[in-house]
Amino acid sequence: MGIAQLGYVGLGVSDLGRWEDFATRIVGLQIGDRAADGTLHLRMDEYYHRLILQPSGEDDLAYVGWQVTTPRALDELVARLEAAGVAVTEGSDEERAVRKVRRFVHFADPSGHRFELFYGSVLMTSAPFVPGRPIAGFKAGPLGVGHVVLMVDDRDATERFYLDLLGLRISDYGSGPVAFFHCNPRHHSIGIAVRGALPTNKRLRHLMLELQSLDDVGIAYDLCQKEALPITITLGKHSNDFMVSFYVETPSGFALEYGWGAREIDDATWEVTSYDRGDVWGHERIPRGASAGARSDESLARAAAARS
Ligand code: FE
Repeated sequence: MGIAQLGYVGLGVSDLGRWEDFATRIVGLQIGDRAADGTLHLRMDEYYHRLILQPSGEDDLAYVGWQVTTPRALDELVARLEAAGVAVTEGSDEERAVRKVRRFVHFADPSGHRFELFYGSVLMTSAPFVPGRPIAGFKAGPLGVGHVVLMVDDRDATERFYLDLLGLRISDYGSGPVAFFHCNPRHHSIGIAVRGALPTNKRLRHLMLELQSLDDVGIAYDLCQKEALPITITLGKHSNDFMVSFYVETPSGFALEYGWGAREIDDATWEVTSYDRGDVWGHERIPRGASAGARSDESLARAAAARS
């Protein structure tokens, strides 16, 4: 066994105050720890942290932490990467202290995204997760944080790297230049979209967190609209993972997908397919600058045309 789950996500942010309010009061995460330099460690389950918000100001992905099963699995993955000519660097003691793991290494994927492999997370078994607002909880644990969708330069090179070197498995392909990968029953822990195909200059397209209850997604949807937070994609259901979700812009500009009800993958029976479109229903893109919850001119025109 190699990679077991998406263990943590590091984000470099500029406005930690806004992030703290957003993460706790809207998203329902818990502040697990706060470092002297302002770094926020956010919890969503028994792990010491799942999101690490560092005050670097880049407002983008800093690193993706992949948890491996054992020390030997880490050694094997490092050997495979190095044999393929990938430069792998041992994490420093200082960095390791921030991540609260026994050991980690880092390297760059074909687009330069910083990936980390680690084992030995600290689990807070004596301090249960207490959500930042009343929710039934997140679906995480052995399924990991959720998923990230990253902007990449070359889909095929990235796909080969993720499959052949990291041992991730393909879930399916979308209608555009996108692909989705899994490492455990979660439908995808990472997705990729080719840069230029989507209107963003961020490395991180979005981060998805999954809730235990559909009501908690609906209540957050109401909360975002009440507080005029920028909803970028309305409530809807994805074709591939069946996730019912909406997307809201985070204080760093990239989106958070807040979802419920995704199906899981059993590798023994899974068949890889492609989809003609990304959504079964809903998930309307709201243009930047439109008010939260407002429908786009395009959709209003479509609705008017449908009525006439
Ligand atoms: Fe997603």
